[in-house]
Amino acid sequence: MKKNGWIPTVCYQCKAECAILVRLEDGCIKEIRGNPKARGKACVKGMAGISLEYDKDRLTRPLKRTGKRGEGKFEPISWDEALNIITDKLKSLKDRGEAHKLTANFFPHSITDPKWRFLDAYGGFINTALPHCDSGKIVACIKTMGGVPNHHIPPAWFTVPKDGIMIMSGRHAFGGLDDASAPGHILDAKARGAKLVVLDPIFTADAAKADWWIPIKPAGDTAFFLGMIQHIIANDLYNKKFIDKWVREGDFNKLKNYIEDKTPEAMSKICDVPAADIKKLATECAKAPSVGVDSFKGIMLGQALDFGHAWTIFLAVTGNIDNPGGQPLPDLTPMTPVEPVPVGPDLNELGWHRTGKDKESFSNYSFIMEPTWYQAQAIKNGDLKVLINSEANPALTEMGHKEWRDAVCMVDDNDEYKLELLVSYEIMLSETSKYADLVLPDKSYFERWELLYMPWWYNFGKGVLLRQPVVEAPGKCRHSNEIFIELGKRLVPEYFTFKDDVEYYDIQLAGLGLSVKKLQDMGGLWSPRTMGFRKYEKNGGFGTPSGKLHLYWEDLEGVNQAMPRPGLAPEYEVNIDKYPFILISYRTIFHAGAGQWTHNNPQLRDTVSGFFENPVLINKSAATKLNIKDGDNVTMSSRTGQIKCKAKLTERIRPDCVGLVHGFGSTVGRTATMGQGVSDNILIPDSGSTLDWQDVVGGESHVSTRVRIEK
Ligand code: SF4
Repeated sequence: MKKNGWIPTVCYQCKAECAILVRLEDGCIKEIRGNPKARGKACVKGMAGISLEYDKDRLTRPLKRTGKRGEGKFEPISWDEALNIITDKLKSLKDRGEAHKLTANFFPHSITDPKWRFLDAYGGFINTALPHCDSGKIVACIKTMGGVPNHHIPPAWFTVPKDGIMIMSGRHAFGGLDDASAPGHILDAKARGAKLVVLDPIFTADAAKADWWIPIKPAGDTAFFLGMIQHIIANDLYNKKFIDKWVREGDFNKLKNYIEDKTPEAMSKICDVPAADIKKLATECAKAPSVGVDSFKGIMLGQALDFGHAWTIFLAVTGNIDNPGGQPLPDLTPMTPVEPVPVGPDLNELGWHRTGKDKESFSNYSFIMEPTWYQAQAIKNGDLKVLINSEANPALTEMGHKEWRDAVCMVDDNDEYKLELLVSYEIMLSETSKYADLVLPDKSYFERWELLYMPWWYNFGKGVLLRQPVVEAPGKCRHSNEIFIELGKRLVPEYFTFKDDVEYYDIQLAGLGLSVKKLQDMGGLWSPRTMGFRKYEKNGGFGTPSGKLHLYWEDLEGVNQAMPRPGLAPEYEVNIDKYPFILISYRTIFHAGAGQWTHNNPQLRDTVSGFFENPVLINKSAATKLNIKDGDNVTMSSRTGQIKCKAKLTERIRPDCVGLVHGFGSTVGRTATMGQGVSDNILIPDSGSTLDWQDVVGGESHVSTRVRIEK
């Protein structure tokens, strides 16, 4: 391992996984920058990775629970003891025919991540810890276009031509919602003559850079896009050539019939944007050389399946699929499979994901990334017995966190926990680790190997990126992949005949004529440096069953979702008089939602940046009516929870909305967290017990919970 100089690797302060360079001095990290070879930039979170690496709260040895779940009392144990506890439990689960009752929460850095391989080989399931709205959006793209778009990935802004239009619907690219390269590329495109349009109830940093800010009602984006589609079709502004060639026969006529009454005037009443503005943007988009839309994990996805559907139809009628400046489709890197390839259990047959009271209606859908909140239902039902968590914080940052906490503490008639084993890999103690039976000290992203080849980086198109150790891990830290490989060798050895993670990656790279060592020598990056636009022309069509775009979803006719519905989330309608404001959980560049490593980072939690705590944003005119002044302590209540926090008055938010930064409220962490800030999830109704609509619309009530504010 080198001791000095710049080393290329990959950031993981958030899930964008930007390519970075790390400067070492005598084996110590001194500086972090974006890697220019991979169009990489580093954001403030990325640069604060140095604080994470040398944090005094880093865990360095395995811990075993001594008190009750939730008390957070532990004693140190050896790796042998920890691994034996996990192995024995997983062996007994498999022996009684319940391997499918294992789930691991983790972010899949690749679809052949060693953790995922273990789950497939053993017979358990992955829960990706990604938001449900993301899942809805991805499913919409698969259904219409036959491919997962680069769902972390906005349109390749660096390819937007002069006069192209960039629409960001709640994206917060300048607010640090992933992809440190995006802001520079957007500004470059603007300098080339492209136009930036931001739809957002809050005047964000993105809005400040926009040519046009549209303060839309939260979750009104489906109606807004339907209004634009109607205007484009009614005025013959659609891309006829593209539709004739690439849309399935009959679908466009069905769309025309359906959209007839979704006029800008009618949709304006739902999304609260003037009809003239909907028409103006629609006309501009129809005439522009390209239009790109981005709305990943923003604040707009109240009904993500419907919005994803409207969004993909809009891209189709304007001919903006897989073109420069439009929506790229994935171009998977051809990695060599590691034989034998395990086949995972059938999700539909054995998954706990189809659980709870929506089980029947849920069978109509094909969400691939089920939300964490089902875990609570699955534990209650006896469908989830072992949970292994890494790089996720369900006890704090996921919707339904209270229900999750209650469920993991639930006992049976013999006073035994219904969830038999809860393991959490952690870099430092988190809210979730308080509930774990075993807390395992993970390696940071500066200390481990990982091969990233999925197309969800903004930085480049098809390619392979190497995350490599640049410093030694402290104490007895071991990366979760190493542990899953070890568990694989113990429990399903026929699938784990390779020596370690590096040998596994060597096999995967062989088909490209590469190895981990070669990739290291090449600067940690292989890429043909092409986005491969309009691949459907070369491939004889799209990945849908017909090879054409499917605007009409006949499989969802029975649930009235064959075409996108413009309505707002049902939560809007609950007790409007009693709870007059709509809560928007928004994001900041200083925090990754789930990551304790950003919550408890002194560079990101300080009084200068203003993100030591999270006051509630209230429009000045609304606050005046309530006699609330800037800095006042206020109580905010929803129908299921109550919090106390400071008020921050601003004109940068719609008067009918209030805003709270997501990801605060941790009670764990000595370095910077110290109990400051409040969790938005306390206000958001738990799914499964209070809400049911989100299950089937792929939405999250992070944009639709009604609240009341009192001084
Ligand atoms: S956007 Fe995320 S991955 Fe990229 S530098 Fe910032 S924290 Fe790191």
